[in-house]
Amino acid sequence: MSRRRQIYEGKAKILYEGPEPGTLIQYFKDDATAFNAQKKGTINGKGVLNNRISEHIFTLLSTIGVPTHFIRRLNMREQLIRQVEIIPIEVVVRNVAAGSISTRLGIEEGTQLPRTIIEYYLKDDALGDPLIADEHIACFGWASQEEMNDIADMAIRVNDFLCGLFAAIGIRLVDFKLEFGRLWENDFARVILADEISPDGCRLWDMASGEKLDKDRFRRDLGGEAEAYQEVARRLGLMPEGEATPVLDLDSHRKKRGK
Ligand code: UDP
Repeated sequence: MSRRRQIYEGKAKILYEGPEPGTLIQYFKDDATAFNAQKKGTINGKGVLNNRISEHIFTLLSTIGVPTHFIRRLNMREQLIRQVEIIPIEVVVRNVAAGSISTRLGIEEGTQLPRTIIEYYLKDDALGDPLIADEHIACFGWASQEEMNDIADMAIRVNDFLCGLFAAIGIRLVDFKLEFGRLWENDFARVILADEISPDGCRLWDMASGEKLDKDRFRRDLGGEAEAYQEVARRLGLMPEGEATPVLDLDSHRKKRGK
C-alpha cells in the first residue's frame, strides 16, 4: 500500500494529503509543547480527546453559521478537513486576564475584563509569535481589511457561543486562540475557521474551584493534564458513561494515584 503524502508536521498535528482534491487529513498527536517549543512532552491520549472535542465544537459552530474547515472525523485521531490557505495570524480572544496579557500589562490573573479583547499575533516561530496591531496586518498585507472584519466578527460569534457552551457545564472560558484560512472557490477566497478548538488552545477554568482544565497544567507543571482534558470531554458529553472515572478534583485524584 502506498503511504499517503505528508504535507506538514506541526507541534501537535500532522497534515496529510486527503482522498479528494481540496481536502486534507488532520492527525492529532499526543505531543505537547509550550513556550515556543522550549518545553516538550506528551500527554497520553490528548490527540484522541482533542480530535473529538474539536469535532464537537466545529460541528456546533457550523450549525450557528460559522464556516469551518471541518468535514468529518475519520477515526480516533484523524479528521477530514478542507484545504485552506492559512492566514499567518493567531487570533486570541480574552474574557479574563491570564497568561501573556497578565505578564505584559501587569493585570492580575483572573481579573474579569470589562470587555472582550481580540489580539493578533504573527504566526512565526522564529520570531516567537509576536503581538501585532491591525496596522502591521494592513501594512505587510497579511490579510485584507475585509478579511480582518470577517475574522473579528467570527471571533466574537465563536466567543459568545463558546462562553455559553462552557458556562452550561461549569467552565469559565478565560481565553482561546483561533486560526483562519482562505478557502479558494474559483478566483474568490472566503475566510473560514481552521485549525482546532481544544484545551490545547483555550484556558478553561472550573467555575466552582477555579481549577485549570487546559494546557496550563502542562505549561506550569501542575500535573493531571490527561485527566483535565478528559474532564472537559466528559462534561461536553463526549465520554461514554463508565469509560472514564469522572475526575472533579484533579489534585486529590493525582494524590490517590500516587503521581
Ligand atoms: N495560545 C495558543 N497558541 C499559542 C499561543 C497562545 O493556543 O501559540 C492560546 C493559549 O492556550 C491561551 C490563549 O491563546 O488560551 C492566550 O495565550 P497567551 O497569549 O496568554 O500566551 P501564553 O501565556 O499561553 O504563552
